[in-house]
Amino acid sequence: MNQDQGESRPATRWLSEPLLWERGRKGRSGLSVPTTGVPVAPIPAGAAGEGPDWPDLGELEVVRHYTRLSTWNFGVDSGMYPLGSCTMKYNPKINERLAGLPGFSGAHPLLPETAAAGALQLIYELEQWLAAIVGLAAASLQPAAGAHGELCGMLMIAKYHRERGGTRRKVLVPDSAHGTNPASAAMCGFSEVKVPLGADGRLDPKVVAGLLDSETAGIMITNPNTLGLFESSLPEISRLVHAAGGLVYADGANLNAIMGRVDMTRMGVDVMHINLHKSMSTPHGGGGPGSGPVAAGKTLEPYLPGPRVGYQDGRYFWRRDLPHSIGRLHAFHGQFAVAVRAYSYLLALGGEGIKDASGYAVLNANYLKEKLKAAYDLPYDETCMHECVLTNAKQRGDKIATLDIAKRLIDLGYHPPTIYFPLVVESAIMSEPTESEAKEDLDAVVETMRQIASEAKSNPDLLHAAPVTTKVRRLDETSAARKPKLTGDM
Ligand SMILES: *Cc1c(COP(=O)(O)O)cnc(C)c1O
Repeated sequence: MNQDQGESRPATRWLSEPLLWERGRKGRSGLSVPTTGVPVAPIPAGAAGEGPDWPDLGELEVVRHYTRLSTWNFGVDSGMYPLGSCTMKYNPKINERLAGLPGFSGAHPLLPETAAAGALQLIYELEQWLAAIVGLAAASLQPAAGAHGELCGMLMIAKYHRERGGTRRKVLVPDSAHGTNPASAAMCGFSEVKVPLGADGRLDPKVVAGLLDSETAGIMITNPNTLGLFESSLPEISRLVHAAGGLVYADGANLNAIMGRVDMTRMGVDVMHINLHKSMSTPHGGGGPGSGPVAAGKTLEPYLPGPRVGYQDGRYFWRRDLPHSIGRLHAFHGQFAVAVRAYSYLLALGGEGIKDASGYAVLNANYLKEKLKAAYDLPYDETCMHECVLTNAKQRGDKIATLDIAKRLIDLGYHPPTIYFPLVVESAIMSEPTESEAKEDLDAVVETMRQIASEAKSNPDLLHAAPVTTKVRRLDETSAARKPKLTGDM
């Protein structure tokens, strides 16, 4: 892949790998068994229906088919994947092994407590560790993803106000919040009050103060925000919101920037979610299960989803004595395999290791930002957290769109960063290198990005035509999302 200009592929070869059904030949087999001399007993008529329509293939045909398909894809294991807001970092394989241990992977969620003591202990301890990492009182592993955690937290806030007879309906959502925040608030019956950003890309407490009233149920703050900046006024904003009778929700999906370093109680946070499938050893994206645990301070702890794991006299058990709980959010207890990976990740790193990981994530993002700000426009020239936001403003004069830069990166061996997000920045290029990249790899991507900036001047058509090294060229992304074709026929 790492070549200047790949040969372009004829259209007919785009998807030249035949389906296994097209390749199969009646009577082929992936398995040879010795003849035993035992006579073949015919299956009695009517005992078996038509077999499934599976193709007959040799083992090597199958191995090559899947190996070829795997080379069409791109993953963290094949190269840098600097998607902003996604934390596509390397996940140690050992955690995958541990999640697959039969005692974990085979445990049925309806097992009696005495037969699932190890699983209950893992849930109990992980909830305690996560609460400690963010400095809050307690946590629940039930929510199945980040947005589900937001829903959980907002349901807790709604119930808190309901129990006090309140009719508070408004939730403040800054322009720098993740896009799922207003949707989660709306699903709980709240209406959104937009909060504009200050000139430095952060929230201004004076602006927040002007929007608070007796209708305010709370505020949802993404911290670090979607510009990759730390909301340093959060303690002051929390004081204002609390004084107005509201509560503070922190979207902590970007935990990778602050793991083990920020005490959310001191920042005035009442409830937050974190994404285990970003920071803690489960890959984000790709359609696998996620996990968005919610942590709460003392005020909202009683509202956490139930049942919760309790521990007394050496015994773990399900607590159902939770009169204020919002109840179940999940058929069972959350995405347990993701929890096992996170548990094993935390055990391996320990308290200091967690801090180191977030420290390197922030260092790498600032390194990238500083090395690229001469070649690309940097709309907010501030110390960033785990990700930095650039734009194509310096290339626009040469008719180069952010999309062209992203597509050219594919030809040069990288997964593109997040583009056109956050919405508050025009034609954004948002990059989150994560702590897993070595300095040499960061230097290589910097060189590549600089090369693209100079190609934008010297040979813009190279960017307009990209990607040329991939199976498919520029896709009609709207149709792909709106009218997906999920069958094999072309
Ligand atoms: C990823 C992300 C979410 C949503 O998480 P999902 O698991 O995709 O639902 C919410 N907020 C922020 C800040 C995020 O980065």
